[in-house]
Amino acid sequence: MKPIPFSNQYVTLGITFYEKTNPVPVVNPALIKFNESLARELGLSVDPLDVISTAALFSGNRISEGAEPLAMAYAGHQFGQFNPQLGDGRAILLGEIKSPDGDLFGIQLKGSGRTLYSRSGDGRAALGPVLREYLLSEAMQNLGVPTTRALAVVTTGEDVERKQLLPGGIITRIATSFVRVGTFQYFASKGDGKSIQKLADHVIEHNFPQIRESNNPYVEFFKAVVHRQASLIAQWMQLGFIHGVMNTDNMSIVGETIDYGPCAFMDAYDHNRVYSYIDSNGRYAYNNQPSIGLWNLTRLAETLLPLFAEGADAAVKIAENILETFIETYENNWLAGMRAKCGLTVNVDQTIKDDDKALIEDLLNTMAENNADFTQTFFFLSRLSAHSAKEDSDIRSLFDNQTHFDDWAVKWRKRFAAEALNEKEGQTRMQAVNPVYIPRNHQVEAAIRAAEDCDDFSVFHDLHEVLQNPYVKQEGKESYQLPPKPDEEVKHTFCGT
Ligand code: AMP
Ligand code: MG
Repeated sequence: MKPIPFSNQYVTLGITFYEKTNPVPVVNPALIKFNESLARELGLSVDPLDVISTAALFSGNRISEGAEPLAMAYAGHQFGQFNPQLGDGRAILLGEIKSPDGDLFGIQLKGSGRTLYSRSGDGRAALGPVLREYLLSEAMQNLGVPTTRALAVVTTGEDVERKQLLPGGIITRIATSFVRVGTFQYFASKGDGKSIQKLADHVIEHNFPQIRESNNPYVEFFKAVVHRQASLIAQWMQLGFIHGVMNTDNMSIVGETIDYGPCAFMDAYDHNRVYSYIDSNGRYAYNNQPSIGLWNLTRLAETLLPLFAEGADAAVKIAENILETFIETYENNWLAGMRAKCGLTVNVDQTIKDDDKALIEDLLNTMAENNADFTQTFFFLSRLSAHSAKEDSDIRSLFDNQTHFDDWAVKWRKRFAAEALNEKEGQTRMQAVNPVYIPRNHQVEAAIRAAEDCDDFSVFHDLHEVLQNPYVKQEGKESYQLPPKPDEEVKHTFCGT
């Protein structure tokens, strides 16, 4: 096996940014999944057939030449409460590599043992949440949403103690940066402005190089972060994705979806859907995600104020102006995406856009009132006749009261006709943005149950395979489209920590 071509950058920031620490070896690592296509993209020459070395590498039992393992320090607002001392309590950054395209990627093990930041935790991860993260993050990637990636999963041969004993797992994740909003807060809470600037310079250099030469790169940096988050959250909303734990330490500075804990794609549409067992007040409910995104970005702005301008008033004004763009960017992205989901893509004036927004909200309200499945509704909508309701039976059957759908469909057909697309072209466009398959909770749960209870990974592998092409209908895979039967429904998800 060739050594990994590390090009470590974070380690150069200095010891206040992390703890240098090695993964704690595990008893008996076994490779469950290796993402060969991602490895190729990254320019890694790992031979997954060499299962013993690969498992040793992705469990942390063997440290690759050139790695400089470290646990990153960060703080964060957890459910609105500030915690000045979090950090990688069960993750270790092995180092960064430069891909053949010249981009920098961090390679991180999660579940790799205790660090300085573990507090009372064991530094480990149970296999279930690790498989869940692999499935969801790779599905997210294939759905076209920015995300951390999953490179490998190993089992550890050790049990972890949660409510019960569970088999342990380690996931290797890849991100263009593992810096979080909470990383900036960590230094802000210590009053360490120098380190905030150093961190901002680091992120700008590696992740936003195009703004390096601008007049005030920190202002441009914050603008770019706000833009990426607004567009990311709009994409989540368009897929019915609920992150579940949008604490500031779980918000990536580069706008990638990170920390797949109690997240879920919803089945039946509900504006205020919450899955996470610990989110009892619904702070991170589906519809709250945009406003929480803005809240988190406001916390980030507070850490960057001294870099924006010399006077406090001027700095606050700059921050406020940029934060205001969040709502506009989010709404524009959301509306463009939702219009596309409904087949409305032609550039129109603002009045028609406003009417489109009302039409979309009408559909979502009708779905919510009638327990219609989110993904299935848009799947069937992208296969409807533009002119006739004759073939509406599949989509109608998703609605408790089918006439409610009929009323909406009359309005939709009238509006769709104005797009002046031929029917086939309209359908093709809609099908490109409305997935056939999402990682449904009950299917993810079935994959975990088979793996944890019966050591059977076939359910996981099959589900993963289908999710590689979520927009393409696959022969014989109809069952993966189906919402859960009442007894299959997963009502709550857990952090799994
Ligand atoms: P999360 O809810 O996964 O975003 O984690 C919040 C914080 O708790 C982070 O600092 C994690 O590193 C830490 N943490 C979560 N689970 C564990 C664990 N089993 N052992 C040590 N630290 C953990
Ligand atoms: Mg986290």
